[in-house]
Parts: sequence; C-alpha cells; structure tokens
Amino acid sequence: SEDTHYSIPKASNLLMLDWIKVPVDFETRELQESAIRDSVRVALAKGKKYFIVVSNMGTTMFGSVDDPKKYTRILKEYQLPFRLHIDGAYGGFVYPFGDFENEINFTNPDISSLTIDAHKMLQAPYGTGIFVCRKGLMENVLTDEAKYVEGMDLTLCGSRSGANAVAVWVILTTYGPHKWFEKISVIKMRTNWLCRQLDQLGISYFREPEMNIVTIHAEAISAELAHKYNLVPKSHDESNEWYKIVLMDHVEIEHLKDFIQDLISSKNLNPI
Ligand SMILES: *Cc1c(COP(=O)(O)O)cnc(C)c1O
Repeated sequence: SEDTHYSIPKASNLLMLDWIKVPVDFETRELQESAIRDSVRVALAKGKKYFIVVSNMGTTMFGSVDDPKKYTRILKEYQLPFRLHIDGAYGGFVYPFGDFENEINFTNPDISSLTIDAHKMLQAPYGTGIFVCRKGLMENVLTDEAKYVEGMDLTLCGSRSGANAVAVWVILTTYGPHKWFEKISVIKMRTNWLCRQLDQLGISYFREPEMNIVTIHAEAISAELAHKYNLVPKSHDESNEWYKIVLMDHVEIEHLKDFIQDLISSKNLNPI
C-alpha cells in the first residue's frame, strides 16, 4: 500500500522487480478493493505474471493493519500465482497481543512469510529483524557455494552478529509471553486514554484498534507543539499532513496530560 515501509521499494529495486503501490483512503488508511483490482489490471496489461504481495501488520506511520484477504480474493479471482508476505516489523510484537482473534498468521494457508523486528517495540539492538517462511521457500536463497559455512548461507548481507540473536533471546525469555502481554496491555490502555482526550477535544486522528500509534492531523498541531514533544511528521517538509505519537514504556499519562494541556492552550480550546 502507499503506507508500506520504504524497505519494500528498496528491496524491489535491489531484486529488479517492479514495485506497485496501492492507494489507501486518507482518513481510514484502508485499502480499497477497487484500487487493488485496478493495480492488478495495470500489471497484467504490462505482461506481469507473478505477484509478491506485502500486507502490513502495522504500518510505520499509522500502525494501520491491512486485510490480506482483500489481496488474495482478487489474485485468486484472476487465478494469478502469488506469494504473500506479512510485514509485522512494527506491529508484530504489539498487534497480536490483545483479547481478540488475530487471523494474520500461518493458520491462513495463503501467507508465505512474515517479518517481525525485535529492534522496534522489543527494544533489542538494531539488526534483529526476524524472518519466518514456510518450508520449501528458503531453499530459493541458498548460496550453494558457501561450502565452508557450517549450516547454510541464506542471507544477503553475509556474516552477522550472533550477539544480536542472543539479545533477542534474553529479552523474550526475560519477559515470557504473559509479562509481554501485560506490558502491551498497559501501553494500549494509555493509547485509549490519549484517544479519548482527542475525541473530547474534537481533534481528528487515526488509530488502528490494538495498536499503540496515534497519528494526528497536522493542522491540529502547531510547530511549537510538534517541536516540544518531538512528534514525528509523516514528511519533513511543508507538505506534511500528519504527526504521530508512539505509545511506549516511557510515554506515561503524565506526559500525555501535559501534551493535552499544551494542545488546549495552543488552540484556545475549552478545557475538559
Ligand atoms: C522498521 C520497519 C521495517 C524494517 O526496517 P529496518 O530498517 O529493518 O528497521 C519494515 N517494515 C516496517 C513496517 C517497519 O516499521
């Protein structure tokens, strides 16, 4: 989608694949099936025969989660061969940890692979992306010539630090699934709190349920406010339309309260 991470166009450039981005609705950040169908038609007209779909489980700027079935319905309708990758780099350690039935996992037989970054919400050192794919796919990237390497050489970048894998293991085993669930639950509650305040002030924003990102319309945020709270803009120029807040451990209700107070003052809004 147009909200897909820049690493995907970068990878398609590297692999000499054509990259197609499907537009999303401005407010809901949702894919329109008609837009997917149009994109597929254009690709077919150009003679494309095979498709790799990247479906986001949490985009970087919005936290929006794509429904992979929107893609697969259309690809199947046209009987096109495809692989489906889930980009859970950002949302993988957040989205599934909630009291709801998440269907974006390997129980969906159409999903071929999945990424999840430990260097985002898990706060592991950089370079701890995790890639999981179905049996039979990994062989496609095996370098036969790497004879002296015990095991297999399956990556593009070559030698990597084993300490990174140890760091991820330590973080995961220190929390365990229940403590991680609790931590994420607290963060989601803070996100709910922020959204309620914004609702009461009538300020427009996007938030994917079960995610910890709140992306606010830029017109509601003064330059001073954005600077004071280090809000992340969608783009670093005048065309910017959104600012996001990522709710993490260190973003406490106290800070959110201050932010809301400053927001009220900057806009001469009536305090709640
Ligand atoms: C961070 C991120 C990536 C990967 O970027 P890295 O440079 O490996 O950190 C991919 N997809 C999404 C959605 C991301 O947020």
